[in-house]
Amino acid sequence: MSGIYGPQVLDVHSAEGVVVQGTGGAWWIRLDGGSTVNASLRGRLKQEERDALKLAVGDRVTVTWDNRDPGAWMITTIHPRRSRLARRAPGGAQAERIVVANLDQVLVVFAAARPEPHPRMLDRFLVIAEANDLAVRVIVNKCDLVDPAALHALFAEQAAAGYEVLPTSAVTGEGLDALHAMVSGRNSALTGPSGVGKSSLMNRLFPGLELRTGTISESVNKGRHTTVGAVLHPLPGGGFIADTPGLREVGLWGIHRDDVAGCFPEFRPFLSDCRFADCTHRVEPGCALRDAVEAGTVPMGRYESFLKLRDELTTG
Ligand code: GDP
Ligand code: ZN
Repeated sequence: MSGIYGPQVLDVHSAEGVVVQGTGGAWWIRLDGGSTVNASLRGRLKQEERDALKLAVGDRVTVTWDNRDPGAWMITTIHPRRSRLARRAPGGAQAERIVVANLDQVLVVFAAARPEPHPRMLDRFLVIAEANDLAVRVIVNKCDLVDPAALHALFAEQAAAGYEVLPTSAVTGEGLDALHAMVSGRNSALTGPSGVGKSSLMNRLFPGLELRTGTISESVNKGRHTTVGAVLHPLPGGGFIADTPGLREVGLWGIHRDDVAGCFPEFRPFLSDCRFADCTHRVEPGCALRDAVEAGTVPMGRYESFLKLRDELTTG
């Protein structure tokens, strides 16, 4: 690009794009025009924003090309974020690490069978999304392996809590149109246990989109720098899929144990009716949430998930 100009001619121009991948100073930016460039964060910006706004995949940025520094695109502006999926260390906001910025939704994929679905594990993913104020939808893939009645029963508690539960099959094609509509033009984080069919689904919807498999998350920390963190896959019609092998590691870090109950949407109507304002919803008399569980208004399974997650935060 600098070749068209003489070395003395100042050639500075800017473009906007989204950070699709990066670690430790080198970032890949997908420009709105469709090309992808490598850029680094301008030193001054890094200094100014060290404590406030760290760059993350999903961030929209302005990059500037400067021919006095051949081959270098510099990230000169980070645009304001509308949402974030963050891992917060107990140290608070200063220690938070943003896994993906500007997400519209989290898609949690489970299989109807093989591997056996675990509603309690699903609840953990749902709580992580709720704690990050992100919309979350449930995909039940491999619906070809179970009969419709069994399928309906699988995540009935989560559906009753208001979550959209979409059955799909990468084999028969069931639900794929609805899934396509769900992701098109939006920024989605795709997560769930390995082997449930995340890559199969994305390959059917968007041939050529190369998702990393769930197994890579285990080896991520063993030296391969470039695979750490989320990778964004821009979609043909706009939006992106964030391949987030590390979402499970995002875990419940930084969620206060007293905020866990509020991450279960169907608990919310009861939480202000407990006799004690600091009710832990475990043993106290006059607990409106436990009353609702006993009355069958709140499903026992969801309450058990709540107890388990809250216990983790108390002991951990
Ligand atoms: P990932 O680890 O979540 O990305 O899962 P993969 O896409 O690698 O799929 C794991 C296995 O499940 C592969 O053998 C797929 O062929 C199979 N699989 C994926 N989707 C379906 C489905 O809808 N139905 C059935 N029966 N098998 C599927
Ligand atoms: Zn209570």
